Amino acid sequence: MDKPLPPTRSRSPLPLFVIATAVAAFFLVRHGSSWLRRTLIYLSHAPWARQLVSSWGVAWRVASRFVAGVDREAAVAATRELNRRGIMVTLDYLGESCTHEGEALQAREEILRLLGDIAANDLQANVSLKPTQLGLKIDRELAYSNICTLVERAKAVGNFIRIDMEDSPTVDTTLGVYRQLRHEANLDNVGVVIQSYLYRSEADIEQLIDEGARVRLCKGAYAEPPEVAFPHKPDVDANYLNLSRLLLGQRAAEKGVYPAFATHDASIIEEIKHYVRAHNHLAAGVRVPDAPRHSPRSARAVGQ
Ligand SMILES: Cc1cc2nc3c(=O)[nH]c(=O)nc-3n(C[C@H](O)[C@H](O)[C@H](O)COP(=O)(O)OP(=O)(O)OC[C@H]3O[C@@H](n4cnc5c(N)ncnc54)[C@H](O)[C@@H]3O)c2cc1C
Repeated sequence: MDKPLPPTRSRSPLPLFVIATAVAAFFLVRHGSSWLRRTLIYLSHAPWARQLVSSWGVAWRVASRFVAGVDREAAVAATRELNRRGIMVTLDYLGESCTHEGEALQAREEILRLLGDIAANDLQANVSLKPTQLGLKIDRELAYSNICTLVERAKAVGNFIRIDMEDSPTVDTTLGVYRQLRHEANLDNVGVVIQSYLYRSEADIEQLIDEGARVRLCKGAYAEPPEVAFPHKPDVDANYLNLSRLLLGQRAAEKGVYPAFATHDASIIEEIKHYVRAHNHLAAGVRVPDAPRHSPRSARAVGQ
């Protein structure tokens, strides 16, 4: 969502792409999905990969499954189309782990403009942000001040900010920033994310329920060591269901918890919808989409 980068038809990097794909297939077979995840995380930080994806038509067609667009205009157009189909949206200005204060301020300004665009276009959308994009790895106070500015602006325009959860070394600081916003700055239009692959998440959720927090549950997207995270996917999935039930339980309802579920996993979405209907949580304000929606974009409707 920063500089628009129109696709060009210059020299095709096809040979490079074919070699990269062959190497990727080799490592994937040898080392499995943890290698793939580490590679994707590396690529998401690499400026050359970003440039390749946004300037080369084939790469962009692959990436567009995951990225709505390269500027705010594209984000507004994609959101309008999803809203037209009855789907609410959360918008994330991609980028993380900035290393200079200037980059953090640039990200803050872009998100401020995004909040303005949402209001000006009357969109059904909120904003998710990454604390390290706002400076968390440079200076915790810098990140707090940037995020506070954004949550205050969101409040002024009737919007909501979700603080994404990043890799495990940032979890305590991120939860601290969230709690300071919620309980010291008294901002109620902010929520946080918990990842089901972390062993600590059940304890975090129990505490967040006590606080009546707005929690989004996801599986987790970072390469974590087995000391802190379930190494096997079935355990991550089982914990997702376990944690979803805590967030949808009686105690959470009494505390006013409004949970969100971020996943593309069709069977988990169905299980959660079934659980909600069976336990009549609609009365507590939890909204269940009428029809099953399995497309990547629609997952954002369940997972804001
Ligand atoms: C709205 C939203 C917010 C998120 N916020 C965070 C966050 O703050 N922190 C964090 O660590 N992670 C976040 N994630 C990422 C999340 O943790 C997972 O890494 C990611 O969603 C893939 O896991 P899954 O739950 O979809 O299930 P998986 O078990 O990985 O996949 C289930 C099925 O969905 C398919 N699938 C997976 N991804 C896609 C896709 N993009 N499009 C279409 N199908 C797909 C898979 O092929 C598989 O068939 C978020 C995801 C979403 C959708």
